[in-house]
Amino acid sequence: MSSPAVRRVLIVGGGIAGTSLALQLQRAGIETEILEKQPVWGATGTGITLMGPALRALQRLGLLDRCLAEGTGFTEMTLFTADGDFLEKVKLHQLLGPNYPAIGGMLRPTLHRIVSEAALDRGVKVRTSASITALRQHASCVEVDLTDGTSDSYDLVVGADGWRSRVRRLLLGPQDPEPYFLGQAVWRVVLDRPAAVTGEFQFYGPGVKAGFTPLGPDRMYMFLVEPDASPVCPEPSRRPARMRELLAPFGGVVAEIRDTITDPEQIDVRPLYAVLLPAPWYRGRVLLVGDAAHATTPQLAMGGAIALEDSLVLSELLASESDLETALSTFMRRRFDRCRMVVENSVQLSEWEKSAAEHGADAARLQNESFAALAAEI
Ligand SMILES: Cc1cc2nc3c(=O)[nH]c(=O)nc-3n(C[C@H](O)[C@H](O)[C@H](O)COP(=O)(O)OP(=O)(O)OC[C@H]3O[C@@H](n4cnc5c(N)ncnc54)[C@H](O)[C@@H]3O)c2cc1C
Repeated sequence: MSSPAVRRVLIVGGGIAGTSLALQLQRAGIETEILEKQPVWGATGTGITLMGPALRALQRLGLLDRCLAEGTGFTEMTLFTADGDFLEKVKLHQLLGPNYPAIGGMLRPTLHRIVSEAALDRGVKVRTSASITALRQHASCVEVDLTDGTSDSYDLVVGADGWRSRVRRLLLGPQDPEPYFLGQAVWRVVLDRPAAVTGEFQFYGPGVKAGFTPLGPDRMYMFLVEPDASPVCPEPSRRPARMRELLAPFGGVVAEIRDTITDPEQIDVRPLYAVLLPAPWYRGRVLLVGDAAHATTPQLAMGGAIALEDSLVLSELLASESDLETALSTFMRRRFDRCRMVVENSVQLSEWEKSAAEHGADAARLQNESFAALAAEI
């Protein structure tokens, strides 16, 4: 058997993409180290929706049953008007067969804990409060300067450092594309789950959308997509009143829940940005994956899924190819069009949401088309 294209890899960023990649590389016998800029390695935020491709990727990582045990799974996605009248059912694919749900929901810190524990068990090294300050490419290695003043060299550096990627900036300089603000923000809060919420529910109001994702038998997270949002998040103390105000156009079950939103600490607000790096996502021995290459808005809830898929495809190629250029160019062929579709369709859904008309039917069609395409093998 030929030897793998790389023996020692540095991953900058210990989020979903970086941690799952480290786990798979280490399993393939490739020595892997993560640099994470935060002092504590973890994830912030409330819940995450795990669409079929995310569940499939987690199964391949060997972590799905644990994720479903600590989160939950379901099979329905239903669209309603702002008053809770039925609009449409979105067709979800049970990619893992009838014994597994089509979609899942769990707390983000729990997902991070499960993936990071698996990576640590496999011997992945993690340095926190750490990043890189410079990259120097050579024919046989890439040298990096680290924020602690030391330098080291690796066969490959992977930038998995999110939508404002420093690795992307160091690699591309003035060609680094600026993420663009969509003019929306997503508000999320974890709440008790009413019995009526049997799956993913989305409510389409004029220019504003809300929804529920179950997290377990008694808990769910509610999201609200704010139009005409500021890129600057409001102070925590102002968030409950502002979120209730934004939910004012909704009736039905959303209105019933509105007044229970009172705890500022529970509310997470994120302005929405997107960026799609044109192919290729690599130069020499430095590659970008996850949000660093394709940060999408959450309208299809697929950003985490395609980050996990990046890790599976890249680790498979790095373990099986003896030539790095072949591995990276094959990675681009397998990943670019799929990730571009997710970013472009998510941005289209965002544009429809912002317009005054109710676009539930168009949204259902585009979601159906996107989910059908993403059911294909990676
Ligand atoms: C509001 C919102 C809701 C979303 N909901 C969903 C959903 O329901 N389902 C879904 O699948 N996707 C969702 N997404 C998308 C998903 O969160 C992202 O696609 C996913 O987190 C990307 O993973 P990543 O590892 O590439 O980046 P990140 O999760 O951003 O991780 C990057 C990591 O790198 C670290 N880092 C950053 N800079 C540096 C540096 N210079 N040096 C070292 N480390 C660094 C960060 O601290 C972080 O740990 C949502 C996104 C948003 C904005």
